[in-house]
Amino acid sequence: MESSKPHAVLLASPGLGHLIPVLELSKRLVTHHGFHVTVFAIAASASPAESQSLRSAASSRLLHIVELPPADISSLIDADAAVVTRIVVMMRETIPSFRAAISAMKVPPSLMIVDFFGFEALEIPEFDMRKYTFVPSTACFLALTLYVPTLDVEVKGEYVDRAEPLQLPGCKPVRPEDVVDPMLERRNQQYLEYMRMGVGITKSDGILSNTWEDLEPTTLKALRDHKAMAQFAKVPIYPVGPLTRPVGKEEARSELLDWLDLQPADSVIYVSFGSGGTHSSEQLAELAWGLELSQQRFIWVVRPPIENDPSGSFFTTGKGGKHPSDYLPEGFLTRTKNVGVVVPLWAPQVEILSHPSVGGFLSHCGWGSTLESILSGVPMVAWPLYAEQRLNATMLTEELGIAVRPEVLPTKRVVRKEEIEKMVRKVMEENHLRERAKEVMKSGERALRKGGPSYNSLSRVASAAISFHKSTGAP
Ligand code: UDP
Repeated sequence: MESSKPHAVLLASPGLGHLIPVLELSKRLVTHHGFHVTVFAIAASASPAESQSLRSAASSRLLHIVELPPADISSLIDADAAVVTRIVVMMRETIPSFRAAISAMKVPPSLMIVDFFGFEALEIPEFDMRKYTFVPSTACFLALTLYVPTLDVEVKGEYVDRAEPLQLPGCKPVRPEDVVDPMLERRNQQYLEYMRMGVGITKSDGILSNTWEDLEPTTLKALRDHKAMAQFAKVPIYPVGPLTRPVGKEEARSELLDWLDLQPADSVIYVSFGSGGTHSSEQLAELAWGLELSQQRFIWVVRPPIENDPSGSFFTTGKGGKHPSDYLPEGFLTRTKNVGVVVPLWAPQVEILSHPSVGGFLSHCGWGSTLESILSGVPMVAWPLYAEQRLNATMLTEELGIAVRPEVLPTKRVVRKEEIEKMVRKVMEENHLRERAKEVMKSGERALRKGGPSYNSLSRVASAAISFHKSTGAP
């Protein structure tokens, strides 16, 4: 490693929705800002897809990838601990090896960026460098996270039982049913971890968020200028998005893409629920019927049903052996074989979404998937399941106008086949949704271009770290 180059270290937390934007952020620091970058990821958590992303990032030779040894957290949490608790505890237990690895580095880093689940790394006392938090989601999610310790004092009872929306100074109100998963049950340990996170992420020189100025102007303004909100942010906010995985090389072509080549433009709806989304058997059957009734072409990434756990595959993505015919309605695969393709567990999503034959995306609204849809100019059926996806779905339908959504919350009630049919037809047939999706796509592309607002935000972070690097006497 050249000691003349500034060195940045990034700490990713488990989950592809975290790893991918961290890798993209890292590549930008290398290619646009001249950094040498080391990315730390947690080996134990890696699903096959995460391992593949790490392998391809390492083989590009742009980044140095370090896989930290797994921490055994089984004695620290209950067997049924919620996702946020698991990830925060896993990150906490990983800090000693992260700390040791950085202390042993020959070229000390001048910049550290940690995914927000790893916020406790910001407080490692001997780390003398510029330190930033990375929130791979929206400014709206960030505002809620920063404000939750205040809501905790202001609001009595469960948030979801309130009749009135939650008021966040200067921001759009948050409907009780849209709160993030850790706020669903205040006695759950993940709520306490989430509140600690709301305070912990500000113990940095700034917060980077995977959004952009034109996407969320009101919330970003509130985070910076609204006294009652900015006092919680405390530090500068840098929108650096939309950061997503780019389309892979030609050799990544699969039979699915060959099939898409044969379909008319904008005629296929892609159906997928991220790396963790699962449905009950009843919901899975309704979805199959709804797709069939819509008579649209489709690619559907399916997972075996799991009752009452919408994020049931989060830690096991890409694993599991049942054939779809074992759990989809009888005859579905045969009846739809001329219009649709069913893919078990996993598909090359970015390549599919950016194919000209794809005209709609029925999605769980994970922020990674949402950005991939936006950057392909593809309108969505918003079907939120877990994490902050209900907030995202509301933004997509009510603010951005690029999605339709079911009348019931899919995690509360089964969405029936007739409604699914209606939504699928709407997203495929209504031109205004597609036109609007293309406009949002262009605004995202503009933000990232050299001289665009997100490019400039990252430049400011990079410049501060480069000045720090020089102040240490580096050449
Ligand atoms: N993904 C994929 N193929 C699949 C399912 C998911 O490539 O079959 C990728 C998707 O492109 C996205 C990531 O996995 O980059 C999921 O991140 P997101 O934030 O959407 O949701 P999460 O899985 O974290 O809930």
